[in-house]
Amino acid sequence: MRRTIYDEDHEAFRESVKEFLDRSVRPHLEDYQEAHALPREFWVEAGKQGLLGLEVPEEYGGTEAGDYRFNAVLTEELAKVNMSLPSCLGIHADIVAPYLVHLTTEEQRKRWLPDFCAGQLLTAIGMTEPSGGSDLAALKTTAVRDGDGWVLNGSKTFITNGYSADLVVVAARTAPEKKARGITLFGVRSDSAGFSRGRKLDKVGQDESDTAELAFEDVRLRDDDIIGELDNGFIHMMQWLPQERLGSAITNLAHARQILDETIGYAQQRQAFGKPIGTFQHNQFLLAELVTQVEVTQAYVDQCVVAHAAGELTAIDAAKAKWWTAQVQNDVLDHCVQVHGGYGYMNEYRVARAWRDARVTKIWAGSNEIMKMLIGRDLGL
Ligand SMILES: Cc1cc2nc3c(=O)[nH]c(=O)nc-3n(C[C@H](O)[C@H](O)[C@H](O)COP(=O)(O)OP(=O)(O)OC[C@H]3O[C@@H](n4cnc5c(N)ncnc54)[C@H](O)[C@@H]3O)c2cc1C
Repeated sequence: MRRTIYDEDHEAFRESVKEFLDRSVRPHLEDYQEAHALPREFWVEAGKQGLLGLEVPEEYGGTEAGDYRFNAVLTEELAKVNMSLPSCLGIHADIVAPYLVHLTTEEQRKRWLPDFCAGQLLTAIGMTEPSGGSDLAALKTTAVRDGDGWVLNGSKTFITNGYSADLVVVAARTAPEKKARGITLFGVRSDSAGFSRGRKLDKVGQDESDTAELAFEDVRLRDDDIIGELDNGFIHMMQWLPQERLGSAITNLAHARQILDETIGYAQQRQAFGKPIGTFQHNQFLLAELVTQVEVTQAYVDQCVVAHAAGELTAIDAAKAKWWTAQVQNDVLDHCVQVHGGYGYMNEYRVARAWRDARVTKIWAGSNEIMKMLIGRDLGL
């Protein structure tokens, strides 16, 4: 079905992103996998291309478009390559960016954003801790007042870009008695004394992304490292979660669509019993159902993109998009593996890696259960 949410400018931008990916990224995908990380050159090239500053005003080195549909186009094109790219780049340019643009002081924007846009200051966000991620309000990392500064102690885990980040937005407890209302966000430089990282975590999929544990031992911070308002970090995180969830939904669907398209091509070529496997009625019906599922889902996600571009996307609608697309993606990719037969289980086949890469989407950025809990609460249940 023809999509109507993008105009000529968005499509021209899409072409420039594709050209960048073909030129600077696709030739190096095997290297990224082996390194279990995206190299700094990737970030610098993406910065030169203007892809890191879509949320950032020009005066701070950005290419602010003022239209979320450009972010959506970028996310779609990255997801067509693999899941790691929209995850890593999305954390930096789509998830951390709003915190640094909208919650910061003029001095902080000047300090952080030009290098952020140039790929010289790579960022991550540290919410999840070893003791739990779903119950964010229960986090244990503390920042305690000491003279005119703060002392940070605790740890974070599963942090995307955590191994290579220069600046981590860290959620820490500043007022123990106030629970959710006693959490503050800090910009913590990874070269601070007392900041350390564990090994790169060994994940089931997404080999190209670095995911790390972070530890803070008496890390000294200043008042001007606080992002947003003191004790208001939980509210700040809730405020920007719809964009994170929508980004996840766009990724889920674009990735699933791409692999499904490739699977349809495979079903047309692969022969069994003297004919293409796609012509067996079971496979024909299966692929018809999957295409329908994906296209109907696209209509909902597109409406979410339009709503978000207009500043109207609710946290609940974003939660629906996030869990539903994660489920659709996992269902679709599991069938795609099946259609590929034994080759679908070989890591050298893209469909196998895509299937591994996708599993986490029902867990991260708020699990499917947590999304349903939020939707259920909204129903008054
Ligand atoms: C590859 C990867 C990258 C990640 N990147 C980041 C990152 O960059 N920054 C960051 O901060 N975090 C990141 N995360 C963490 C991720 O957001 C958490 O894993 C997620 O929020 C779940 O938290 P948890 O793992 O502690 O599971 P838990 O909170 O322990 O939950 C375990 C299970 O219990 C279920 N559950 C929990 N509470 C309820 C409830 N009330 N009702 C029903 N079921 C419930 C959950 O749905 C889940 O199935 C990443 C995780 C992964 C795997």
